[in-house]
Amino acid sequence: SYDSLATRTAVVTGASSGIGAAVAELLAASGARVALLARRQDRLTELAARITANGGQALPVAVDVTDAAAVAAAVRRVHQEHGRADLVVNAAGVMLPNPILDGRDDEWQHMIDLNLTGALRVIRGFAPDLVASAAAGHRADLVNISSIGAHVVFPDYAVYGATKAALTQLSAALRAEFGPQDVRVTNIEPGLTNTELGGHIDNPELAGQLGQMFDNLGGLAAADVADLVAYATSRPAHVNLGQVTVLPTRQA
Ligand code: NDP
Repeated sequence: SYDSLATRTAVVTGASSGIGAAVAELLAASGARVALLARRQDRLTELAARITANGGQALPVAVDVTDAAAVAAAVRRVHQEHGRADLVVNAAGVMLPNPILDGRDDEWQHMIDLNLTGALRVIRGFAPDLVASAAAGHRADLVNISSIGAHVVFPDYAVYGATKAALTQLSAALRAEFGPQDVRVTNIEPGLTNTELGGHIDNPELAGQLGQMFDNLGGLAAADVADLVAYATSRPAHVNLGQVTVLPTRQA
């Protein structure tokens, strides 16, 4: 159990499915108040109801993190209902592989705007909370869910990998920027994880390849990644797991 999370006020993006939903559920089960951010209101309401039924506290906040004004409104809503956030998890993301020669600038733009700039909008919204929490002597955490794709190259995943490499580098830079103010930054790079992520691939061949990888290597459960988030954020305040890779055992 992660008892020290009981006093925390968390914000989790991508909370309507997969890793974000699992993180939100585990943080709430550990006693944190959790704001659930994603676009699908019905999913968020369902998860919030489940958390509440289990004795936890959750606030569903429907938001598209590619919309700067919507993110600003979500920050205000979190402040109204839960006050200052001290644990922020960026899990919202999308993976749209295709050969570069296909020239899918719709997909490139979407991935950059969500996986990188979306995280930045959320960070801009809550970073003052994290700095203030740390200054008040509380633990303060920013967690970014990057990917092993930040380092390992997969053909046809060039832009996805580029957004994740950028997010990993952003985390490292923010660690340098916020660390001296006692705000921890944790960058997590998961390998194959069983979620809805592959469901948006519109290239049947690449969708099939990904299915094959799951068949051959197995995948992590979203809860396995959530466990790592809870572990990292429940360490004593002077301990920062800066960069963590987590893979299914069979994945190289
Ligand atoms: P899912 O597709 O299950 O979850 C993605 C989440 O992002 C959903 O909650 C979705 O909610 C949310 N989201 C998508 N677009 C937006 C938007 N514009 N605004 C707000 N929220 C949005 O996939 P995962 O759980 O796997 O993905 C979570 C993160 O983990 C991603 O960043 C992914 O890159 C990363 N990752 C995943 C791996 C895997 O193998 N699954 C491996 C390594 C990293 P909604 O549609 O309701 O908005």
